[in-house]
Amino acid sequence: MKYDKITPETLTLVTSIVGKENVLTETELLQPYSHDEVTDPAYHHLPEVVVFPESTEQVAKLVKLANEKHFPIVPRGAGTGLACGAVPIYGGMVLSLEKMDKIIEINADSMYAIVEPGLRTDELQKAVTSYDLFYAGDPCSGDSCFIGGNIATNAGGNKAVKYGTTRHQVYEIEVVSPLGEILHLGARLNKMTTGYCLDQLVMGSEGTLGIITRATVKLLPKPKHLVDLLAVFPDIESAIGIVNKVIKAGITPTCVEFMDNITIKSVERYLHETLPDSENGNYVIIQVEGTNEDDLDEKMVTLDELCTENGASSVLVADSAKIWQARKAFAEAVRAESLIVCKEDIVVPVDREPVIIDNILVLAQKYDLITRIASHAGDGNIHLNILKNEALSHDQWEEKIAAFQRELYTEVYKLGGKLSGEHGIGYKRKALMAEFTDKAELEVMRAIKKAMDPNLILNPGKIIDVLE
Ligand SMILES: Cc1cc2nc3c(=O)[nH]c(=O)nc-3n(C[C@H](O)[C@H](O)[C@H](O)COP(=O)(O)OP(=O)(O)OC[C@H]3O[C@@H](n4cnc5c(N)ncnc54)[C@H](O)[C@@H]3O)c2cc1C
Repeated sequence: MKYDKITPETLTLVTSIVGKENVLTETELLQPYSHDEVTDPAYHHLPEVVVFPESTEQVAKLVKLANEKHFPIVPRGAGTGLACGAVPIYGGMVLSLEKMDKIIEINADSMYAIVEPGLRTDELQKAVTSYDLFYAGDPCSGDSCFIGGNIATNAGGNKAVKYGTTRHQVYEIEVVSPLGEILHLGARLNKMTTGYCLDQLVMGSEGTLGIITRATVKLLPKPKHLVDLLAVFPDIESAIGIVNKVIKAGITPTCVEFMDNITIKSVERYLHETLPDSENGNYVIIQVEGTNEDDLDEKMVTLDELCTENGASSVLVADSAKIWQARKAFAEAVRAESLIVCKEDIVVPVDREPVIIDNILVLAQKYDLITRIASHAGDGNIHLNILKNEALSHDQWEEKIAAFQRELYTEVYKLGGKLSGEHGIGYKRKALMAEFTDKAELEVMRAIKKAMDPNLILNPGKIIDVLE
């Protein structure tokens, strides 16, 4: 794709829309906006300008200007993404939503909140607890990512087993279309068959079909009785195998998370802490809610029995703060070990998870890979991190990973799985997306992109290449 450069004249127009205090052009200030959480510099790219609009109207004017002057716009939340979705690969403008960060309304009676996209996810979670409510979106990056970014990526996280992913938490979104029109998509309704479901199309589209400028999200009554159990399994297969058994037993857990032993050790080193029973194997963290104390006790007994039957060496009531701190430190702990990490976000049907785990272990041995595995096991979503072996050159590493990915995703797709459960395709997985997606399906995606964004100005080069 060829775009026009942002000229001094265009910059003057940009400044007239957002004010000069909301425009960055100095290289060292642009630097943090050249990447997301993907640390490999091969994926970094500087924008020409970063802007911080403060209203939907300003966003709409900027998008109209981009169409007129033909420069690309890349929407950006907190930049915690793991797919290079917010990286401006063609330069142009990064449009940061960080100044649109307000909670506009919390309606405790009707259980919803209206928020701006730059609101940090945990700010919303904290704000609603005083109303005895909770927001069910809960990515591990909740203390840094934004609601807008969560909606744009359809973030998953820890509570998706019971409550679904971010798209299930949203009633309505206000969106600036790629042509600069302000749209209100979805509604605060429990049912709706009123034309195409455009809100759901924009959610998860990684900033390629619209810029989310406001959202009405669902709130739920805060559970009064819940517990985190930690089951420790000597081998990975039996740990992963427990997931389907728990679900089949009729218990709907809130979370089922997995960490393999080598990852637990990595987190211990990173946190300078010893974690419970960490000598004895692999962790499965199961959070479960009860309608009352008795119901919760009954579920705990059943879970204890199921885990023990499946080979767990111990089942403990976990220190919730400590165990979740450990689970959420996974990404940082891996980063402390290596800056060059290939992060896979495999998702398979839950009942196929033991099969794909076996495949991963066999392939890891075949390719002699240094792996760390944590997973949202209750969703069949496996975060396989592969650390670059320092002895390999950049080219050798790339070659090895490409061959490994081809074998891995061939198996994943045979099992009915997909490339990404929650991190998205962005720029990083685009080649795999082209390789593993049905050609007719890719054509439909291209047609949608072209129809909504005829000038291809909104986050171009992400998910799919429109022009081949
Ligand atoms: C330590 C760590 C833990 C993580 N844990 C999880 C997890 O448990 N579950 C999970 O799903 N992800 C997880 N992630 C990935 C990441 O946090 C999520 O993808 C998150 O939703 C990104 O939000 P963000 O605000 O940082 O968006 P960004 O990284 O800024 O952007 C992500 C994508 O969304 C687009 N975008 C951002 N804001 C908007 C907007 N307002 N309108 C339109 N498009 C927009 C961008 O263009 C980009 O394509 C984790 C990341 C880290 C570093």
